[in-house]
Amino acid sequence: ASGYQLLRDPHHNKGLAFKEKERDAHFLRGLLPPVVISQEIQVKKMMHNMRQYQVPLQRYMAMMDLQERNERLFYKLLIDNVEELLPVVYTPTVGEACQKYGSIFRQPQGLFISLKEKGRILEVLRNWPEKKIQVIVVTDGERILGLGDLGCQGMGIPVGKLSLYSALGGIRPSACLPVTIDVGTNNEQLLNDEFYIGLRRRRATGQEYAELLHEFMSAVKQNYGEKVLIQFEDFANHNAFDLLAKYGTTHLVFNDDIQGTASVVLAGLMAALNLVGGALAEHRFLFLGAGEAGTGIAELIALEMSKQTDIPVEETRKKIWLVDSKGLIVKSRLESLQHFKRPWAHEHEPVTTLLDAVKAIKPTVLIGSSGAGRTFTKEVVEAMSSLNEKPVILALSNPTSQSECTAEEAYKWSEGRAIFASGSPFSPVEYNGKFYASGQANNAYIFPGFGLGLIISGAIRVHDDMLLEASEALAEQVSQENFDNGLIYPPFSNIRKISAQIAARVAAKAYELGKIFVLIIIKCMMW
Ligand code: NAP
Ligand code: MN
Repeated sequence: ASGYQLLRDPHHNKGLAFKEKERDAHFLRGLLPPVVISQEIQVKKMMHNMRQYQVPLQRYMAMMDLQERNERLFYKLLIDNVEELLPVVYTPTVGEACQKYGSIFRQPQGLFISLKEKGRILEVLRNWPEKKIQVIVVTDGERILGLGDLGCQGMGIPVGKLSLYSALGGIRPSACLPVTIDVGTNNEQLLNDEFYIGLRRRRATGQEYAELLHEFMSAVKQNYGEKVLIQFEDFANHNAFDLLAKYGTTHLVFNDDIQGTASVVLAGLMAALNLVGGALAEHRFLFLGAGEAGTGIAELIALEMSKQTDIPVEETRKKIWLVDSKGLIVKSRLESLQHFKRPWAHEHEPVTTLLDAVKAIKPTVLIGSSGAGRTFTKEVVEAMSSLNEKPVILALSNPTSQSECTAEEAYKWSEGRAIFASGSPFSPVEYNGKFYASGQANNAYIFPGFGLGLIISGAIRVHDDMLLEASEALAEQVSQENFDNGLIYPPFSNIRKISAQIAARVAAKAYELGKIFVLIIIKCMMW
């Protein structure tokens, strides 16, 4: 290959960091200015440039340009400055990037599979230059972050998530494949936008939708084998639960919005027990929001309680209550409930407001996962604080504007007693002369390490026990010093080490489960 091509190959380009010998060996003489600089200087220069940009979207575009130009430098920059750059390549900035994806679009960074490709998906996969794929992140763009239906422009999400798989989980960038499935969009604004990059039609549903997804799932298995991890991302909940259930038995699939969220939140709760005391099964949980996040977290808590106490999960679920847009989920609503809410319909008279639900259920832990902001009012936090010495309050809704309450409100209204964490980050708060830091229940704590664990163990199915293992591994990373500061998550700056710990534990669990499966199979054969 020519030197000119090398400079345009993002996987191998080093720019000005090519040494004299490399410049001779790869026909680069004259194609670069004479100076040779180290990667450290390149990082310093890039960070200096990045910090000049006032608008977050400009930083995002600078990072994407770098990824397309010099992949090594992109990852070096991201790893060394993870706390500063994560909000750029991932939430919240990636959300704005998706909204404007049509007008900032320069080069495709993943595979687009639309209804036009129906019947030819295998062929499409083969057009992708890399053959050895280990992780696919796929979206249909219907529920991008808290922003709703962004259609084909959701591509920013798989791209961003996979760059975290590499930066935080150490997975080879060329083994990662971002995919957007375009079945149309119901977003009127996009349908009327002349720069929109997707199919200009309303979303396919029912059989048409199911067939395209099925063709995709089959083609992936045929082309990459059984060990490729397929992460579903930002599907609307009317498809997310069904896809996970349907393909969970035939493919290595993981839904970060349901399972990743559940694992990261359970880890925070396990850690919080060090501060509030008691075993998990001795606590009572109330959720505001019964969607992918809420019911996913609730189920994993119930499973962990069951694991710890040997009480069946049907019983441990009764310690967990959820409120949706129609009020407390109770038995009398059973008939009209979506199926993923049904396990949570316990015996109770109807309750409409969150405040009344808090008073009726008397939870020790309150979790916000509705996407609606400012719902943990002064009255709600005060009620939690009168019921509990140390109320655990998690305000998970994103972005910051949608948070159930701010960190400051949680500490002020609880007189400094709340154990608080949130979905979006908050700066430390001063209350009565004392500083309170709060943790962020960021999914990026879990999914890169979890995925790495699956890949290195050669797992072919995801099992709930692996999620529980990941939660335990993360909770164990919280130090006494962190607890003393009121934190229930470890500092994000250690994320590479944390991911490695999670990966090792998940891989060991996969191996253990694998051995159990072999025993079960042998037993069956002896019958
Ligand atoms: P989802 O599947 O659409 O579920 C939303 C749920 O909230 C539904 O049950 C909905 O009720 C309920 N709801 C909406 N508005 C409400 C209101 N005003 N009062 C009571 N209930 C209301 O969404 P999701 O994927 O679960 O995400 C929910 C939120 O969690 C988002 O803001 C997301 O950013 C956040 N989240 C945070 C993390 C994290 O911190 N790591 C991870 C994942 C998600 P109906 O069912 O009655 O419509
Ligand atoms: Mn997501």
